Amino acid sequence: MIGDFEIKEEDLAGRIGKLETKHGKLETPVFFPVIHPIRVDIDIETLKKIGFNNFITNAYLLYKYKNNINNIHTEFNFDGVIMTDSGAYQILQYGDIEADNNSIIKFENHINPDIGVILDVPTGDTDDRQEAETSVEETIKRAKEAYKEVNDNIIWTYPIQGGKYLDLIERSASIHFQFKDKFKFVALGSPTVLLQDYDYKTVVAMIMSARKVLDRGYPLHLFGGGVPHMIPFAVALGVDSFDSASYILYARDNRYITRDRVLKLEEMDYFLCNCEVCSRYTPKDLLEMDEEERTRLLAIHNLYTIKSEINSTKQAIKEGRLFEYLQEKSRSHPALYSAFKEILMHHDILEMYDNGIKPTGKGIFLFDIDSVKRPEILRYQRNLDSYEPRSDQAVLICYNGLERPFLEDQTVRKYISSSLRESKDIFIIVPFFGVIPIYWSDSYPLAQFEMTEPIDDEVKRDMLQKLERFLSNKKYKKINVVNCDELHIESIGALSST
Ligand SMILES: [Zn+2]
Repeated sequence: MIGDFEIKEEDLAGRIGKLETKHGKLETPVFFPVIHPIRVDIDIETLKKIGFNNFITNAYLLYKYKNNINNIHTEFNFDGVIMTDSGAYQILQYGDIEADNNSIIKFENHINPDIGVILDVPTGDTDDRQEAETSVEETIKRAKEAYKEVNDNIIWTYPIQGGKYLDLIERSASIHFQFKDKFKFVALGSPTVLLQDYDYKTVVAMIMSARKVLDRGYPLHLFGGGVPHMIPFAVALGVDSFDSASYILYARDNRYITRDRVLKLEEMDYFLCNCEVCSRYTPKDLLEMDEEERTRLLAIHNLYTIKSEINSTKQAIKEGRLFEYLQEKSRSHPALYSAFKEILMHHDILEMYDNGIKPTGKGIFLFDIDSVKRPEILRYQRNLDSYEPRSDQAVLICYNGLERPFLEDQTVRKYISSSLRESKDIFIIVPFFGVIPIYWSDSYPLAQFEMTEPIDDEVKRDMLQKLERFLSNKKYKKINVVNCDELHIESIGALSST
């Protein structure tokens, strides 16, 4: 059925899904380039060649300037997925527009896009709470009003507003369940200004506020989320689709989008990509062209970059290494690192959605103190809490220099055979995990990890805290410490009491 959303792969709170539309199944995460309904910047054929079989255009501008059109797919001569925005962006720009919710919905019913949006009232980046509240309440009222008018041929979008007021976003999102039989797509509004200001941290908090009250079975769109830098972070929080005109707006301003920053063409000596534009021209060639052609070529490059970021994010989900991908991306800009830190604050929610054992069974990479917030590590800590001692005596062996798998290490084997005789619990002390019972050590991810060595002080402190917590919970009467000279673990209280 149109609007059905099937989740194929999951990692953190992100997923790869398939949305059923009139024009086939749309794989998410997906990016919708904004196509101006009148002015042609990039033609549809070029868009397809870059790999976009979908775009978003503006129903309000069509309504205003091309009122006589019938079917939107015929109008654009396109058989892919078309989403229409409603004019909310114009409200944000110009204050008010010459159309109301009902006439826009009627018009969309008539032109029949795959995905439609009601005429919501965007909160934007206002600092006025009253104004933000009004935009939320008015948008809810319009959703209610639209509920009776929308037809079933279109996947209708429920817009969430609230701006930076997180409680308002939560309220706005929590109302979706009342309308979900008719609004099978959900979209979070207005982060554009925040994204332009590099305030990724607030955007993370906004997405989190919406996602935690929304039903996971519905795709979530981020309006105007067009800078590729933020895409993997938003996806990790459960955003499934994006739209933006940034590729063309930046191009008009001679700006070249890379996967982690935006460069001025005038300041570039080399192109950093191998798309059809970058492999054929140099920055100097482009600067010597007439403006229209330069803008077109830069826009094409920008779209390739966005496409490539979407693909990398999907591949990371598929491999179960989205966390590591975020870790890597977060180092490209301090604002992204702040966003990453904000995501880590919500590690409990990520862990709730993360599906645990990865199908590929690939090892996890552990770098620094951020890695201890990985869902795999947090889940392991909880399992460890329920560990039942088999004896009142324990042997702790430090990880330094041990071979892996630990069960095959000579030192470990020596203690295994003696402990069988004497009935002792054997544990390996390992950074990030704290302690690992030897008989658990061949399960995922305890046997499949790579870590940075030597470990830094924060990771060491974390490991010792985990050890201390474990020992004070399990209350062994006698503890034998092996191979731990370099770690100086004798300061742990639970050890000296035995
Ligand atoms: Zn390129």
